[in-house]
Amino acid sequence: MSEDPETARQIAELSADERPLLVLDVDDVVLEFIRPFPLFLQKRGYSLVIASFKLTGNIAEAANGRIIEQPEVTALLDEFFGEQSDWQSITDGAAEALAMLGKHAEIVMLTAMPHRHRAVRRRHLQALGLHYPLLTTEMAKGPAVAKLRGRTARPVAFVDDQPSNHISVREALWDAHLFHLMADNSLREFLPPLPDDIHVVWDWHEATPKIAEALAL
Ligand SMILES: [Mg+2]
Repeated sequence: MSEDPETARQIAELSADERPLLVLDVDDVVLEFIRPFPLFLQKRGYSLVIASFKLTGNIAEAANGRIIEQPEVTALLDEFFGEQSDWQSITDGAAEALAMLGKHAEIVMLTAMPHRHRAVRRRHLQALGLHYPLLTTEMAKGPAVAKLRGRTARPVAFVDDQPSNHISVREALWDAHLFHLMADNSLREFLPPLPDDIHVVWDWHEATPKIAEALAL
């Protein structure tokens, strides 16, 4: 798997840390996404009907029912992320969980979004009191997580709502502890069965002690 050079550059800027590593996705793990995004769409004359675990194909123009194409979805997402501070709040329990886990682990947020949105997202997370480094990647997450671990064999836990990201991290790090968490568990019915080595956690309250145990905190 190839790595995103800009993500590698961001990782090189982090200060060295040898504590156990906790890598977190942002959308629908730390910040709400799938609950506020339909409200944003509504304001712009679109509706989201979730019939599968993806956005493209599930967003229609409210006026005529036309399903919008990938470039239009991308443009709406760009706009949403530009305005994210108006829309995205912290997921239930995340702030408390990170405050607790961050006492003994290095926490890094890794968001799969165009690098150009990094500054806005960083400002928003900071304003919410989430003072953890934020990395963006436009490529698979696995190589970035492997690079974050560094040369030591420190334990690594990874939390994400996208099965494909877990598969990528598993390919890069055979011993990473993988936690599948979704801000909205009703979406689970649209997912294929997850590999057995991914721990399903229902919310941050359930995830926190399990992550602490996996990282031996
Ligand atoms: Mg996500």
